Amino acid sequence: MIERLSLQQTIDMFVYVANHMEAVAARLNEADQAIGDGDHGEAMARGWRSAREALDSGEFNSIGDVVSAVGMRMMAAMGGASGAIFGTWFKAGGKSLAEDETFSSEALIILLDHGLEAVQARGHANPGDKTMVDALQPAATAAALAGTRPISEVLPVVAASAQQGADSTRKLVARMGRARTLGERSLGHPDPGALSTHLILQHMADYVGTL
Ligand code: ADP
Ligand code: MG
Repeated sequence: MIERLSLQQTIDMFVYVANHMEAVAARLNEADQAIGDGDHGEAMARGWRSAREALDSGEFNSIGDVVSAVGMRMMAAMGGASGAIFGTWFKAGGKSLAEDETFSSEALIILLDHGLEAVQARGHANPGDKTMVDALQPAATAAALAGTRPISEVLPVVAASAQQGADSTRKLVARMGRARTLGERSLGHPDPGALSTHLILQHMADYVGTL
């Protein structure tokens, strides 16, 4: 059981996420081919590669510094709708964690809650619009419900909720982003950004599982 992560473990966790997100790029591109322009995996890989460079070379004084660096790199390197959306998630979370020296379940709640709020303020997507919000929102709710249990117990629950949320987007007609123009033809396909939201959280959980 791991109660919380140290600053170095938090850096290592995001490096682990970066490596694994690069490895799933083809799968995410395929999902985006079905209802978008086929570049989501490529964009994610580019964003996380740049984030990993920052994580490898940076000096960090807080959890917030680490999370903010990820957000800034994603926003700059990914570009497009998803760069703004995923960059906003991590930048907003990082800002709220500027005083934290460990990654606890409380920190995870803040990362998801403040991230979700900022993503919705920026992109105006609501649950049910078939976007990454449909994975991030249930993840935030699950984290809040799991409360202050150890991070090694909370992260797998949060990842499972994000996966359910991502799966649920198959039944939705897209009302946001590129897929919106497909209307009913977006049915039956999961939202690529919701898939990557699940995978990011899944890889965070998997990293903690390696400790
Ligand atoms: P682009 O649409 O510019 O090609 P990507 O393919 O990288 O960008 O990412 C598409 C994903 O971005 C979608 O699957 C969706 O989850 C997310 N997205 C797009 N617009 C929004 C929005 N307004 N709010 C939340 N997420 C969004
Ligand atoms: Mg795309």
